[in-house]
Amino acid sequence: MVGAGMAGVRTAVGLRERGWRGRISLLGAETHRPYDRPPLSKALLLGTADGSAFDVDFEGLGIELLLGRHAVALRPAERVVVTAEGPEPYDRLVLATGAEPVALPGTEGLPDVHLLRTLDDAAALRPVLEQRRDVVVVGAGWIGAEFATAAREAGCAVTVVEAADRPLAGALPAEVAARTAAWYEEAGVRLLTGAAVASVAPGEVVLADGTGLTAGAVVVGIGARPATGWLAGSGVELGPDREVLADDRLRTSVPDVWAVGDCASFPSARYGTRLLVHHWDNAMQGPATAAANVLGGDEVYDPVPYFWSEQFGRFVQYAGHHAPGDAAVHRGDPDGAAWSVCWLRADGTLSGLLAVDRPRDLVQGRRLMERGAALDPERAADPSVQLKNA
Ligand code: FAD
Repeated sequence: MVGAGMAGVRTAVGLRERGWRGRISLLGAETHRPYDRPPLSKALLLGTADGSAFDVDFEGLGIELLLGRHAVALRPAERVVVTAEGPEPYDRLVLATGAEPVALPGTEGLPDVHLLRTLDDAAALRPVLEQRRDVVVVGAGWIGAEFATAAREAGCAVTVVEAADRPLAGALPAEVAARTAAWYEEAGVRLLTGAAVASVAPGEVVLADGTGLTAGAVVVGIGARPATGWLAGSGVELGPDREVLADDRLRTSVPDVWAVGDCASFPSARYGTRLLVHHWDNAMQGPATAAANVLGGDEVYDPVPYFWSEQFGRFVQYAGHHAPGDAAVHRGDPDGAAWSVCWLRADGTLSGLLAVDRPRDLVQGRRLMERGAALDPERAADPSVQLKNA
């Protein structure tokens, strides 16, 4: 396995669980013992949790951890992964290098400009919260919203600058995403939409319209890209987002090489499209298929994707993958505390579900999607009817 995050770790453990007795090496660029990322923008940032290391007995399982080792090239003809410390041979290889955050152009290396992807990033941000500095967050996506939540909780003054006209613009349909703007205001966060950053200097962010924002720290959350630069020239086929193009068995275009987690997309027969999922559940579930197939199995990976986010005191969950033409059915008062949106295809089957503090809707909706069940739109719109009975 190259990449010692959730996907690499789960694949390694999955190989052992399926009875593989040979050598397993988990090669990872970071020096920390493998850890979970979601707490980095939540409890770890606030200091209410000390760490998020995976509870896996690597030594007991005979999984060799090669940490602090950055893969720089793949040479399939020789069956080696090249690292700065030398070549690592393999018989079968799983790519699990995840994603890396996109930097704001021109801010690389500037003091007090932060990204949030790693344990080290979170550690660097802890003092910002402890010192209650004025923070400018660039990007109102999932990471921006979660960081803003934590920073407010710590007592920082927070301004979020978003280029689109609403938060979560790339993630949710306009009418649903727009509702989340009120959450910022309610939490005392200044949200500036349709705002572009012109320049960043120590202590200040200047917007394109000339507005100057005081910034004791800047946190950039403008997206992440698959960490696949090291595969250039390897023959592993990459897609438009630089992601590894895996097939429905999570095989890559190179023999005996599989790919899983944030670094790879896969074709979904369920949704009739290729999916590139940058969420925890995919890195958790995909490895079972990858491990089975590495050991000679023939399993297809076609999940109902799922993710959650904790922002501004709300538990936001989404399952499925709805298409632009699917009909949105609203359950509950969108200005109230808890509501959901179901997306239905023309034949009534549920394709996607967003739940805000309605976890039961999510659980039931996910099961309905797994079964390909159809819903009655009128009953689905009634929040007093359990979804499983709609
Ligand atoms: P990663 O976790 O990125 O792990 C890949 C590993 O590979 C990294 O350790 C990296 O250093 C290493 N690597 C990269 N390149 C190389 C190389 N060339 N050589 C060696 N090693 C390399 N998802 C949710 O659904 N809900 C959430 O609430 C949520 N919160 C999140 C909060 C934060 C702050 C972040 C960053 C992510 C969050 N996610 C959340 C997303 C989720 O954590 C990811 O989808 C998941 O971590 C993906 O796992 P992965 O193993 O594919 O990749």
